Amino acid sequence: MNVRIGNGYDIHRLVPERPLILGGIEIPHSLGLLGHSDADALTHAIMDAMLGALSLGDIGHYFPPSDPKWAGANSLLLLQQVNQLVRSRGWHLGNIDSVIIAEEPKMKPHLQAMQEKLAQTLSTARDQVAIKATTNEKLGPVGREEGIAVYAVVLLLKG
Ligand code: MG
Repeated sequence: MNVRIGNGYDIHRLVPERPLILGGIEIPHSLGLLGHSDADALTHAIMDAMLGALSLGDIGHYFPPSDPKWAGANSLLLLQQVNQLVRSRGWHLGNIDSVIIAEEPKMKPHLQAMQEKLAQTLSTARDQVAIKATTNEKLGPVGREEGIAVYAVVLLLKG
């Protein structure tokens, strides 16, 4: 088989006095994402999708939150490591499609910067990294602005 597909999901709580970082971009907002690392839920969902495509486990296995080494970690560096792992197994990225679910703030002004940052981090073309955004129509915890969730799908190609 020359193609593999993986999906990833992540959610982090929104809390005061934390930066809001998605796709390696800091977004101005009164609340930020809580987590052991920089809590970049977009980058985390993409990493999980890449690992899932090759049945290599999940990010918790490689970067356990119990390990102080990853406290405040820049998730882009973790993504680079996952990409290297994928390449070392003889695979490379075909494309990523992702969707950020957030009530506030508006993501649209930041999507292009996230796309550029992630493409650069993965050494791939911008049009291979799709990032979409939607609200949760004020429904549930995401709708109440208690957190931000992300879904990602990744296609890997052999070679
Ligand atoms: Mg996470």
